[in-house]
Parts: sequence; C-alpha cells; structure tokens
Amino acid sequence: MIDEQGDTLRRGDDAADRVSPSEQTTIQIPAQHAVDGIKRPPMLEAAGSFLSSHGPIVKKVALGVAVCVVGAAGFAGLRQLADAPADPGAAGNTTQPSETTSQTPDDVADGVRRNAAGQAVLDKMAEAIENESRATFLGTLDPQAKAFDEQARTVYSNLGKLPLATFRMRYVSDDPAALTPDRQTELGGTEAWLAQVEVSWQITGYDLKPARETLPVTFVTRDGETYAASFSERFVAGQRRPIWSLGGIEVAKGEHSLVISLDSQADADDYATVTDRAVESVTKVWGKNWKQKAVIYLPAKQAQMEAVLGAQPNAYTQIAAVTMAELDTPQAGAPTRIVANPKLFDELGKQGRRIVLTHETTHVASTATASPVPLWLAEGFADYVAFTAVSVQDESAAKELFKAIRAGKVPKALPAPEAFAASSADLPVAYESGWLACRLIAEREGQSKLVKFYRAVHASKSPTGLADAFRTVLGTTEQEFTADWQKYLKRLAGV
Ligand SMILES: [Zn+2]
Repeated sequence: MIDEQGDTLRRGDDAADRVSPSEQTTIQIPAQHAVDGIKRPPMLEAAGSFLSSHGPIVKKVALGVAVCVVGAAGFAGLRQLADAPADPGAAGNTTQPSETTSQTPDDVADGVRRNAAGQAVLDKMAEAIENESRATFLGTLDPQAKAFDEQARTVYSNLGKLPLATFRMRYVSDDPAALTPDRQTELGGTEAWLAQVEVSWQITGYDLKPARETLPVTFVTRDGETYAASFSERFVAGQRRPIWSLGGIEVAKGEHSLVISLDSQADADDYATVTDRAVESVTKVWGKNWKQKAVIYLPAKQAQMEAVLGAQPNAYTQIAAVTMAELDTPQAGAPTRIVANPKLFDELGKQGRRIVLTHETTHVASTATASPVPLWLAEGFADYVAFTAVSVQDESAAKELFKAIRAGKVPKALPAPEAFAASSADLPVAYESGWLACRLIAEREGQSKLVKFYRAVHASKSPTGLADAFRTVLGTTEQEFTADWQKYLKRLAGV
C-alpha cells in the first residue's frame, strides 16, 4: 500500500511539473464567486465563502491537483443572465418583458401569446419524457431544424437513461429581439423567438428537491404550429447547462452512487465502485444520518465541465473535482453533484481518485454547500475523512506546512477564509493546517467528538457558534486550542 501511495505521489508531482509555476499556486475561480464570498450578508456569507474559498486539497503534497466546492455557481450565472442584454444594440431586449417601460399593450399581448404557445410545446415535451413517448417528443421538434433534431434525440435518449422522479419545463421569459434577422430568416415560419426556460428534474432515490437550470429554447411557428428549434442558442457566459444536454451520456449505478458520464473512454462502473467505497468511508466517520448517496458527473472535456458549472473558460483547469449544489440558491436539501475534472482525474491514479472522491463525498454528507462551518474546519474535516480512509504519510500529506514550520513559520492562527481563496499562495498550507487541526481533535478527544464539534458548528445559527462549540463540546477556547495545535504541529514537524 505504501508503494502504491508513493507511486501516486510521484505521479502527482509529475503532473504538477507539467504546469507553469504560476498555475501551481494559483487556482482560477470565476471572479463573481470571490466577490460573493466576501460581500454576502452573514447568513449567506458562509455559503458564499465556500464559493471563493475551496481551493486545492493536498495540491503540491500528493496529488498535484485541487478539490473545490461550489455552492451556487448557477445563481451567479442566472443573475448574470438576467442582467445581460441579449443584444446590446437591440431595443426591448430585457429577459423580463413585463418590466420594460417602453412596452406597448400590443407588445405585452404578444408576449403572453408567445408564452402560451411556448409553454404548450414545453408541457408536451415534458409529458413525453415522463411517459417515455418518443413519438410525441419528436412531434414537438421543428421538422426543418435538422441539426437540432439530432441533439434533441440525444437529450430524449439521455433522459430515458436517468431514473427521473420528475421532469418539468417552465417558460420563464422571452426576448423577441434576441435572434438576429439572419437567424430569423434561416428559421423561417411566421414567427421565431428565443425564450428562457427553467428545467427542473429530480433523480429518484438521490434528490430531495429537483435540480434546476435555465435552458434557452428557440421556438418557431410554421403553418399555425409551434415547435422547438434549439436548446443551445445564445448561451450567456456563466450560465450552467444540464449535463444531459451536452452530449450522449452513459449512466452507471452503484449501491450508493449514480455516475453520469459524457466520457465514453471513462470506466463509469469503476467510478461507481470507488464512490461506493467513498460513501462507506464517510458514513463510518460521519454516521448514518445522511442520504448515503452521491451523484458523480464525468465530463469528457474541460469545456463540458465549465458548461456544467457555469464557469468561465479555463477556470477549473487545476481543480480535480468540484462539489456543487445544482440549484440556484444554496440551501439544505439542494441536489448536490460531484463534478470530476476529466483530465486531472486521469492523472490522479487509483488512490488519488479515492482520496478526492472521499473528500468531496464528505462535503456532500455534511451539506458543505450550505453551511456556516468555517473553511479550516470544512476542508480540514473533509481531508481528515479522506486520509482516514486512505492513509498517506504525514511527510507527504503535510509537506508544505512542515516546510514552513521548519523554516520558523509556525502558523499564528487557524487558517482564515482568505487563505483558502483561489488566489491564495498559502493554499496547500491552509489545507494541511485544517486537516491537522481536525486530526488533533480526533486524537485527543476521539473521532466522535470531532464529528460532534463539526455538527455543533454546522447547526449553530449564532455568530458565536464556533466559540460555543469549542467551549461546550471540547471544553476549551479557540485560543487555547490554537496553542495546543501549534505545539502539535511543531512536534510532528520535529522542531
Ligand atoms: Zn473541499
């Protein structure tokens, strides 16, 4: 086992060597995440800070990659969508026609008519998907949209592979000026327009609430009949896309896991097996009081990962996996997905994949995408669970921290949220610090006390939740604990 880990470590280092020095220490996360993290009001702050703060786990240490949590990627995307004019030069180009002051009563009546015609098509589509009526579904597609026909057939077949409890499509708004005159001519018919449609879908046995995404749907009316003509027109940067709209999927079902893969090269069954083990490892520490299920997305390409996350291009090139809530606002019970970065996952090796998936599954179990837990505890605990499941030597797993301590730089405090920011140069030290803080609690008080401590902070609605948990669960203060932790770190580093 040690040899295998050594192999993983070397492979990780190799992977790190292939990227530029700046990429090794800088993780790019979309700017709106960082802004949200810093500027949100208190109740959202914690969830927001997850957005900005979850950077790499054991990055340089062992795996040469990063693990990340995103709480509400889609929220930023949606807000951007609402703010972004579809065509800066066009009049009446808001996505909320009813709020446009320049609208005439005729405009409003046209909007209502388009809404009714579009919603009728969407209802037919959603019903066809729920009832597995392929002919009805195909009847909603524009007979002249040949390229779309293929994409729509793929979507239909994808949705048939998923165990869906519900599937709904809701017409949200439209923008008659969104399609260029050339595009209108190409579509033909008596009328063609673009609408934003909310798609909600719930996976049986996995989701407590439906996942929600906004899909642009192009409609065309010809010979008095309205059809859907595209699902992918004018996507706004940062808008999330449902994984089943990005290409043909393969679905693998484990005992505790559902793997949805766009990557025909990936062994989806193997991912299901590794995730099943991760779920078991997490349950051993966290207890049975969670759903004990995880949904994994395997994009085949970087661009697909960005589309699923609503990320800017190349935002996640150095992030191995992301845990995200597939809902517009972070909240308990939101459907959670672990999205794996295809390129980095290949480089991780078996043990590395297991460490990363166990780390991410810990975030799923502890609903880290909607939690007031400070980052040193959330990330430290996820690493604690991962390194309990797959043991790695301290010298490797805390390499950067030990290096700093041996150079006389003992951390003065538990890592602050900023230390986990994407741009933080201290990212590996922050993760290692959080991990060893959690391990100290477990070694001194027992693992169950660590879990109790985490749960107490997680459940607290008070701004003094952390201090209260230090006192009531651990019988200490943050100050005292920090002093003990500093001694512990020095001892481990041999200084
Ligand atoms: Zn994490």
